[in-house]
Amino acid sequence: AIEVRNLSKRYGTFQAVKDVSFEVPAGQLVALLGPSGSGKSTILRMIAGLETADTGSVVLTGEDATKIPVQERGVGFVFQHYALFRHMTVRDNIAFGLKVRKVPKADVKARVDELLELVQLTGYSRRLPSQLSGGQRQRVALARALAPRPKVLLLDEPFGALDAKVRDELRAWLRKLHDEVHVTSLFVTHDQREAFEVSDQLVVLNEGRVQQVGTPQELYERPNSPFVAQFLGQVN
Ligand code: ATP
Ligand code: MG
Repeated sequence: AIEVRNLSKRYGTFQAVKDVSFEVPAGQLVALLGPSGSGKSTILRMIAGLETADTGSVVLTGEDATKIPVQERGVGFVFQHYALFRHMTVRDNIAFGLKVRKVPKADVKARVDELLELVQLTGYSRRLPSQLSGGQRQRVALARALAPRPKVLLLDEPFGALDAKVRDELRAWLRKLHDEVHVTSLFVTHDQREAFEVSDQLVVLNEGRVQQVGTPQELYERPNSPFVAQFLGQVN
């Protein structure tokens, strides 16, 4: 599980994240949903350890993450504009985190082959990122994040830069993938429809605060504030 407890973050005098607490239960896919500027990416960066929190803590599978160095937290990350290594093939990109961890060569090959199949890119292993579509690149990014078997997966608008049709396909595909691998995942989006389709639970943020937590159905049927009602009302 990912347990976020009372996280706050200030930039200068601006309070970007205000006493945020929620939990991603083990094996679930939870969407962190909110308008632009509501603090989603900041929260994700604090969970990953790329940003320090002013207050609060993050517990990853029972361990206080602040005590664990970033590289050893077991967090996989996919960003909107994911920088694949441009001079490396698909295979080498996916293998990168395994080689860093000194995984034996034969095991690296087997793991990369398995991941290529999982993200449906078998046959693309020798291509460079420039020879792939945007959607294919994001699938490579996902395979790379999953390669070292992270304890948790953080996705920050991974399909945000793609066109609507590809987004729809990848969204359905991500849900299916998650049903296969069950890695505890937090998925950031400002798109209500995306959050509804993909996630087991939603955490709705507004101006740095948690407004409501619940399943898509609970939020849709019983929004706890005009903000949530209006924000989710845009679904259809
Ligand atoms: P979006 O949907 O546009 O990606 P977001 O919910 O991810 O938005 P954040 O990136 O977390 O929002 O930013 C939250 C607020 O904190 C914004 O008002 C932003 O301008 C501010 N902010 C973020 N990073 C910094 C920074 N390094 N310095 C100053 N302000 C920052
Ligand atoms: Mg963001």
